[in-house]
Amino acid sequence: MGKTLFIDFSLLCEEIGKTAKRKEKIKILSDFLLKLDKEEIGPVLTFLLGKISAEKKLGIREGGIIRIIEKISGKRFSDFLAKTGDFGEAVKEIFYEINRDKIKPALTIKEVYEEFVRISEIKGDFSKEEKEKILTDILERANPLEAKYIVKSIIGEMRHGVKEGLLIESLSFILNIDKKEIERSFLISGDIKKVLFEGLTRGKDGIRDIEFKIFNPLFPMLAETANSIEEAISLHKGKVAIEYKLDGIRAQIHKEGEKVIIFSRNLENITDSFPEIVKEIKKIKVESIVVEGEIIGVDREGKPLPFQYLMRRAGRKRDITFSGIPVKIFLFDILFLNGKLLIDLPYCERRRLLEEIGREIQVVEKFEPERLEDAENYFEKAISLGHEGIMVKNISSPYIPGTRGKNWLKIKKINTLDLVIIGAEWGYGRRKNYLSDLYLGIMDDEKRKIMCVGKTFKGLSDEELKNLTGRLLSLKISQKGRTIFVKPEIVVEVIFDEIQKSPVYDSGFALRFARIKGIREDKGKQDINTISDLKNLYKKQSLLKGKYEEIQGSLL
Ligand code: AMP
Repeated sequence: MGKTLFIDFSLLCEEIGKTAKRKEKIKILSDFLLKLDKEEIGPVLTFLLGKISAEKKLGIREGGIIRIIEKISGKRFSDFLAKTGDFGEAVKEIFYEINRDKIKPALTIKEVYEEFVRISEIKGDFSKEEKEKILTDILERANPLEAKYIVKSIIGEMRHGVKEGLLIESLSFILNIDKKEIERSFLISGDIKKVLFEGLTRGKDGIRDIEFKIFNPLFPMLAETANSIEEAISLHKGKVAIEYKLDGIRAQIHKEGEKVIIFSRNLENITDSFPEIVKEIKKIKVESIVVEGEIIGVDREGKPLPFQYLMRRAGRKRDITFSGIPVKIFLFDILFLNGKLLIDLPYCERRRLLEEIGREIQVVEKFEPERLEDAENYFEKAISLGHEGIMVKNISSPYIPGTRGKNWLKIKKINTLDLVIIGAEWGYGRRKNYLSDLYLGIMDDEKRKIMCVGKTFKGLSDEELKNLTGRLLSLKISQKGRTIFVKPEIVVEVIFDEIQKSPVYDSGFALRFARIKGIREDKGKQDINTISDLKNLYKKQSLLKGKYEEIQGSLL
């Protein structure tokens, strides 16, 4: 039992990475998954998704891996990284150089996984040395390709294009059921490993038996950007409700009895950061409930403060910590009540239930416009009250977890893009000790590649840049002159004056007068805007400028 070799897993990753055809990827993946023993399913999925570090909190980072590889090989890692441009590929090349291709692959997937578990369990004063010793021992037994995928799975950069979506399609292929059914089980359980495990071991019934469980967060439903209020309203033939778009932190709150857990939009537990919200929620007198709302910072008069005031930018990744300013929660949805999942009810029904239970707690205001003009006035009111804009919601839409769709449309006063930092240059003068010029990346539509859309040194204070410098250095992948390239992890919200076409960056576009509005600790690279979003904004901007013909030719 559990005899699948790690080299077979490595070959699988190579093979999937080589083909761009989705159908082929699904076929290769399905064949592999079907051959696994029960106890191998979990470990394979963890490795495949590059999640071993996140799941097991290994405590080994890129620096440690480089140290180990250099010690084993006597070679300078940066030379190979510069040559190959990929961390795992560099390890493979080094292992060839030191003749590790002579090693007969014998490591099993289960064995490698168990060694990682062992690493994660080491605590105490000399833990770093002990952890690195175990990893060294594993790598000493690995051939070049195995070594490549051992390190890739630790740093979480698999680059073969296997995400949850592909796994769902593969399972739908294996079980011959509609992928929507599997998707739903995934979205309500939030656990792809559980879905695959149940599906592969128990078939269709396993999938259908997966139910929502309180304190297991649902993926949040998200909104698309509408070009205008008119567009948003006419899309749903006027059957819409408008709410303020509050600029804060999305919270999904689960309560059963006296137990309350608050989840961020990344499904991280942020309960400890908001004790006053926990107290508020406890006022709701029901047996069990899941609600969603926005936590916002307010000033002394109770006026909303922009998002960035809410974040204390501690050096750590995605550390959402209460910053000391007063906060309030405004609820806008209800997903579960007294044992019943409500996501299939239409918005207007959920809203009615929310208002019923919401007597004890604040619910975001709702407005149903009769005429376009009313909606436009409401938008102006939202802005004058200090909100970001409005959300236009289709009143008959269900809550579809994890999807960004047209049932919720957002309209903001200022257009911003969420982008990820992919590199940075050392500053000059007063900022010479900081990485201050930031390269901004946008996602391609297949969510596989990040492309550059320009750089900026504007918007952040010296203090913020100082903190950011430390974080960027810890994410460094490579360096060229004054520029370092980093793992794309830090998301920033960027304001700009205009989008221009540009041959300088690989996205083909550049942002004119870009400046950082804030660091979005609550977002990850999967949440950033895509090149289609950018093209839509460009189209809208050009339309406004009366350049319709020009872009028709080049974009449509
Ligand atoms: P964005 O982060 O720009 O994609 O906008 C979507 C986010 O707006 C959601 O994830 C919520 O955090 C936030 N939001 C603010 N007000 C509302 C509202 N009334 N309904 C839904 N989401 C809202």
